[in-house]
Amino acid sequence: MLVSSVDAIVVNGELRKGSAVIVAPYRGPSVFGYETDLPLTRAAQISVHTSPLATLGGKDAGGMNVYIRELAFHLAKQGLPVDIFTRRVDLETPEVRELIPGVNVIAITAGPPEPIGKNELFPYLPEFAEQMALYSLREGVRYDVVHAHYWLSGWVAELARRYWNTPFVQMFHTTAHMKNAVAAQIDRETDLRVRIEKRLLSLADGIVAANPDERADLIWSMGVATEKVCTIPPGVDLELFHPMPRQDARAALGIAAAERVVLFVGRIDPVKGIDTLIDAAEIIAARDVLVPPPTFLIVGGDLDERGDPVGPLANVAEAIATKGIAHSFRLTGSQPQDQLPLFYAAADVVAVPSRYESFGLVAVEALACGVPVVASRAGGLRFTIEEGATGLLVKPRSADALTRGIETILGDDVLRAAMSAAARPSVARYDWATIASQVIHVYQRLASGHRAHLCAGGEIFDMTGSD
Ligand code: UDP
Repeated sequence: MLVSSVDAIVVNGELRKGSAVIVAPYRGPSVFGYETDLPLTRAAQISVHTSPLATLGGKDAGGMNVYIRELAFHLAKQGLPVDIFTRRVDLETPEVRELIPGVNVIAITAGPPEPIGKNELFPYLPEFAEQMALYSLREGVRYDVVHAHYWLSGWVAELARRYWNTPFVQMFHTTAHMKNAVAAQIDRETDLRVRIEKRLLSLADGIVAANPDERADLIWSMGVATEKVCTIPPGVDLELFHPMPRQDARAALGIAAAERVVLFVGRIDPVKGIDTLIDAAEIIAARDVLVPPPTFLIVGGDLDERGDPVGPLANVAEAIATKGIAHSFRLTGSQPQDQLPLFYAAADVVAVPSRYESFGLVAVEALACGVPVVASRAGGLRFTIEEGATGLLVKPRSADALTRGIETILGDDVLRAAMSAAARPSVARYDWATIASQVIHVYQRLASGHRAHLCAGGEIFDMTGSD
């Protein structure tokens, strides 16, 4: 085996001496230039503020965590090994954990090894990039492409490019620009985030948007070059999320066969619009269209050891108690993802009342389980739900509109059966094998120097038939 030694590394412009480092042989493409048409050998994913292994449904762990984990699995399945870099938040986690052969999660020490709010992380990003560079040097691994998730990781990817000279793909998973457009004053994103996201638009070699609207917003409102932004939605695990008999699911969850069930699944965050769902539940309870009123099953948020809601879920509990509708609600706290098919199968309709949704995995998971969805006409939901065929799209933040949507689907058995039948076939296009191969295509183009026309040629996923 070829062994060379490196006794110094340039870090943040300074020459740092170190002990000899073993560098494994590298037979991949040049890492000091982008131009290569050799097969990709390894990709880095960066997720600074949240790990793909975090508990889902908590404050900062949801669709992005699922996306990174599943993408990595499917890239590895298609022959591209992946290292996922995330910040160390405790002392116990080993530096390298192999999730499956070909997928490692690397814990990078940057800042104190404890949980830190994402708005406090910016000062630690240079250290994160430096430690990533040292890891790769120590282990002798090289990356043909870096895929950064969320703005914090994008900034790290930009710093890492100075060490690795490797192209990077940015995925925002919502921008401050889009989030602020629907946020209350108190929930607004920081100016720092707004500024860094603008910078990343020009710094990134390629950008992946999760839906055509997001792509249009980046191009028309934020001024990024058209050919730099590709639309590739997340995939969905169609094996995990599949239809099953409703009575079995209800029996497993202790839900009566005759009950009507509206299911909400997700983080308890203002952007998810649970306040609109609570208002709709109040309106439904006061009308006599659905008698008795449906049960609202809320999956997500945290419960303490006694089973009482804490954090944002406690605010939900308080709101429904104040309105006198607590008896119509069941708050289960967050659930492991492999339990969710049961919850979806037990529901008559899944409500996704988000103010904004970059893609909205929950809606597609519900459809994959054969359950109709009533969702806000916002972001990716506009493209994943076929209006009138697999669900209904309603005005965001309108409790009246959401009420009408829920009542329409719950009040019409024939419509609901037709929507259920159409649901699963409508999401076959989100199977991971297809999506991962499109991501590889983008990586390949970047690694071979096609930055100028990354998304030209229409070969990227088409959610509308016309993008
Ligand atoms: N999820 C979960 N358990 C929960 C709540 C959510 O596993 O208790 C998962 C859910 O299956 C979905 C993801 O978290 O895959 C949420 O993704 P989505 O795109 O709907 O929302 P985001 O979190 O990205 O805003």
